[in-house]
Amino acid sequence: MKDRPLLMIPGPIEFDPAVLRALGAPTTSHVSPDFIDTFGRALERMREVWLAPTGQPFVLAGSGTLAMDAVGANLVEPGDRALVLSTGVFGDRFEDLLSRYGAEVTAIRAPVGETIDFAEVEATLGSGDYKLMTATHVDTSTGVRIDAERFGALGREHGLFTVLDGVCSVAGEALRQEAWGIDVVLTASQKAIGVPPGLALLVVSQNLLCAWGKRRTKVANYYADWAKWLPIMAAYEKRVPSYFGTPAVNLVCALDVSLGQILEEGMEERVARHERLGRACRAAIRALGLGQIPTSDEHAANTLSAPRYPKGVHGTDLLPRIREAGAILAGGLHPEIRSESFRIGHMGATGPGDLLATVGAIEAGLRACGHDFELGSGVAAAQSILFG
Ligand code: PMP
Repeated sequence: MKDRPLLMIPGPIEFDPAVLRALGAPTTSHVSPDFIDTFGRALERMREVWLAPTGQPFVLAGSGTLAMDAVGANLVEPGDRALVLSTGVFGDRFEDLLSRYGAEVTAIRAPVGETIDFAEVEATLGSGDYKLMTATHVDTSTGVRIDAERFGALGREHGLFTVLDGVCSVAGEALRQEAWGIDVVLTASQKAIGVPPGLALLVVSQNLLCAWGKRRTKVANYYADWAKWLPIMAAYEKRVPSYFGTPAVNLVCALDVSLGQILEEGMEERVARHERLGRACRAAIRALGLGQIPTSDEHAANTLSAPRYPKGVHGTDLLPRIREAGAILAGGLHPEIRSESFRIGHMGATGPGDLLATVGAIEAGLRACGHDFELGSGVAAAQSILFG
């Protein structure tokens, strides 16, 4: 018997043993030929996973918030106008972050559970001179996915830079950075990329880099300044030693392994697997008689689900019971729905067996909390999608 419950929160997630082995291997020098080759290959692989053949990848030691911070630091000059599309806590984070760098921020905030109304975005863009627009592909606080293709197209149409927070989507949801014309797609290692927390990952378009090169003011963040990191990324890709700040050597080795696995699975297959997992999880939740935060399956994420607690059941009772039954889930995060909902991550190396075990654990927890439902109905609903 496994001596620990499954980690089924929306990041960090369960990691593949080969990725963990790479992480646990003896640390080498950041300028050793082996490591240079590994880092260089990881950068090349990022372009394939992001589907951005001419994009510039950056790998920084830090969490997803650092990737967001790097965007604020490098894109914004005081007085620039930014439009933030928010579908939850992480969209709101961009509003605060960009304003710290002197941006004049306008936010379009979707009601909790709803996705972005692009007609409203279009009208807003038409009435103002915006330099950049940000959006969260999947907001982990609501489980809502936006239409990233439309987002990129609107950015192109209006001649502004687009920044997509893909922390909860890259390598899990359909995303074609270059074809969709998105200037920055950022993520963190601990989600569908499948590597323990600690890496901030970005791919930046050449178009944006060109504009960034003409900044009037110095980047006001020393560590996140792309000027510091561009020569380093270029050197690793050219397989020559370089140094600015010590890279997270072991995490980069693990990243290379995970990106290799992702590409071996194939991007389309991987997205299809996540789509199936998402659909199966939502079907299970529905069969158990629970509501969900996203108001439609059309814009419900495939990387996580956000069920509502049934009447009379509280998270403080339910979540520990689900954990006892074998799965660690996350409570609510968004302040408006924190006490009403919980979150299940199903991304990265998660397989059908993990999802079925999780649904089984949820059933055990609900039963222990006195919720009335037919035992096994959630598992059966998920199975019919996973294996139907
Ligand atoms: N954006 C989204 C969509 C996220 O889910 C998260 C983390 N949950 C972040 C940004 C911030 O990433 P981190 O916690 O790694 O700083």
